[in-house]
This record gives sequence, structure tokens and C-alpha cells, in this order.
Amino acid sequence: MNDEGYRAAWKALDLLEDWLTTGYARVHPELVLDKTGSREQASPAGLDRPGLLAALAAEVAACVKCGLSVNRNTTVPGEGSLDPEVLFIGEGPGAEEDRTGRPFVGAAGKYLDTWLPPIGLVRGQCFIANCVKCRPPLNREPHPDEIGACLPYLERQITILKPRVICCLGRIAAQTVLRTTASLGQLRGRVHQLPRELLQPDAAAIPVVVTYHPSAVLRDKATLRKPVWDDLKLLKSLLEK
Ligand code: URA
Ligand code: SF4
Repeated sequence: MNDEGYRAAWKALDLLEDWLTTGYARVHPELVLDKTGSREQASPAGLDRPGLLAALAAEVAACVKCGLSVNRNTTVPGEGSLDPEVLFIGEGPGAEEDRTGRPFVGAAGKYLDTWLPPIGLVRGQCFIANCVKCRPPLNREPHPDEIGACLPYLERQITILKPRVICCLGRIAAQTVLRTTASLGQLRGRVHQLPRELLQPDAAAIPVVVTYHPSAVLRDKATLRKPVWDDLKLLKSLLEK
């Protein structure tokens, strides 16, 4: 065999190896089990999503890129399905989250949990993250410089998780993710696309819907329940596609 022939043979072997290690998983993601053997936690297509997310969480735990690092008790990187139907993005951890290291576990989180079954979801099918991973003192809104410092972590989470749909909870998340200063009222009620600058060049488009933050709805259910329900129905319609 000449050089050309050898090269072609090696390439064929490479392709075969690639197919055997990841191609089968690509066609049958439902059969790929994580180390615990749980189908719920299946991580598709031979990607080490658990490893990448663990590395990110470790970086966040050591992060001092903004002033929110000073008062935090625990970082809250986010958690959930490794192959999420929906990535919910909130603002930042509150007191209970700062104590436990888990997102949306306080009153707002318990309320968010009740939004999911009506659209055919449970928390385990979603991933929940925040714009900033450390609690702003007294639950104030995170400042633009803090959001800017923390945004690369959220971008990486999106790249790793490739959610089918993103749902922004509240104005801060909506403006951060959609890179706009438009009001929540202007942004909710329709489907956006995740801006390309938040995606890897070869990544598929990800639809984004926006709704009110669960804490805001808890404060004014009479006004906000109906628009939230409309937004959730829009989210559901995207999942049914
Ligand atoms: N509010 C948020 O925006 N995020 C949380 O994790 C909890 C409350
Ligand atoms: Fe780092 Fe984000 Fe925490 Fe700021 S909020 S210290 S950028 S992890």
C-alpha cells in the first residue's frame, strides 16, 4: 500500500473508533447511562457533562472575580438535569440558596416547582441556574459589573448543557441573556433566540422565553399569574415541537 492508501486506512479506522465511542450514543442517547446508572442523569453523545459541570462548580467555589465573593457563605453554581428540556435562569441566590448551595430552594423556588407539572415537567428534567452565583447582600439586585464578571460561567453552562429551551425568570435574567435594556413587559409573551455571541459558532440556535420572577408573582399574584401562565404555555408549545 502506498502512503495515500495508509492514510485512507487510518482515517477509516479513526472514523470507526469515533462511531463506536460516540456515534452509537448519538443515535441512542436514552441508552447512555452515567456512572450511577441513572437514566434520568443520562449525558448524551459521549460528552463528559458531569465532569465539565463539576470543574465549573469548583472554579465558581474559588472565584473572587467580583465583590459578591466577600459576603457569600456558599456559591450556588446551579444544578439539574444533564440533558435539560429547559434551562431556567434566575437572578442570584437568596438567603436559603446561600446557606445550602442550591438554586431556588427558598419560597420562590418552592413556588417555581408548582409551575412545572402544568407544563408537563418536573424539576429533574430541568437545569436551574442564576446570572450571579453568589448572593447579593440583602438580596439587592446584582450590579452590571457583577453580572458581567459572572456571565462567562452561565455561557459555559449553556455550552455544556445545550438546553432545548431557555426560560428567563425576571428582568435581570431576561436583559442579561438577551443582551438588551428592553423592559420585561416588552420581552415577555414571545419567543426570542439566544444571541449568537452567547453560543459556540457551530451550536444550534436555542429559543428563549421570558417571564416574571416567581418572587414578583408571589408579591402580586392577582396581576401576574395570568401573564406567567401565558408564558408557560408558550414554553410548553416549544417543548412539543
Ligand atoms: N431567586 C433567584 O433569582 N435565584 C435563586 O436561586 C433563588 C431566588
Ligand atoms: Fe465569581 Fe460570580 Fe461569585 Fe462574582 S458572583 S465572585 S463572578 S462566582
